[in-house]
Amino acid sequence: MLEGKVALVTGGGRGIGRAISLGLAKEGVFVVVNYNGSEEKARETVEAIRSAGGGAEVFGCNVADFNACGEMMKELIEKYGHIDILVNNAGITRDGLMAKMSEEDFDEVIAINLKGCFNTMRHLYRQFLKQRSGKVINISSVTGIMGNPGQANYCASKAGIIGLTKSMARELGSRGITVNAVAPGLIETEMTEKLPDSVKEAMKEQIILRRPGKPEDVAGAVVFLASEKADYITGQVISVDGGMAV
Ligand code: NAP
Repeated sequence: MLEGKVALVTGGGRGIGRAISLGLAKEGVFVVVNYNGSEEKARETVEAIRSAGGGAEVFGCNVADFNACGEMMKELIEKYGHIDILVNNAGITRDGLMAKMSEEDFDEVIAINLKGCFNTMRHLYRQFLKQRSGKVINISSVTGIMGNPGQANYCASKAGIIGLTKSMARELGSRGITVNAVAPGLIETEMTEKLPDSVKEAMKEQIILRRPGKPEDVAGAVVFLASEKADYITGQVISVDGGMAV
């Protein structure tokens, strides 16, 4: 059990983030469910946690906004005194072949997926040092390892997360803080719903287990990394992809 711990899950109101929020709450963690556009869904997730006997609250903040992330951390630290687990889950896709990809689509994906992780970690850094404890779990992707045609912006952001994770693990390890990444494969959420069937079928062909994963599959790995069972694991990228990137 992770009773008494406080977690911030970015984009924690829907999709994989929702499963992570529910999974952590089930272990006794108080979960701050961050959202940007989907306040209703974040509130529903908080309700689901509370009706199961857990503790949670919503917090609206665009993770791409450096100053807004600073304000969010300041407020949360003032309120709870500590943040023990940070899950950088927020992410978007703006797919297209490089020949047609706009500068805006490249920049927006990097700003949310990659810089969003920097923004939250940068504003928690000092607090983690003070606590001499903390667990960061960054959600990367199998595509950050393998690459994917039509997703140069997304894959670059997810590969960047791996570099960020390893660097932060090296910087913070001596202070008892672990930083890991989880790299999901094809997981059934709104994000993958919009992929063309032909693309999904081609992806399934590459999956050893021959089926897509569920948000709960990813949540399981995140909850493990957030627990004391993973105290000696840092700087790692755990694939939850049915064997896609083997
Ligand atoms: P999703 O269903 O589209 O959910 C995306 C989440 O990110 C939402 O909660 C959304 O919240 C949040 N978000 C987006 N922009 C944000 C911003 N600027 N600030 C704060 N939150 C923001 O996608 P998903 O499949 O659950 O993906 C979750 C994570 O897993 C992403 O990082 C994604 O890249 C990664 N991933 C997914 C798969 C997959 O197959 N599904 C595979 C590999 C990796 P709002 O709606 O409130 O903006």
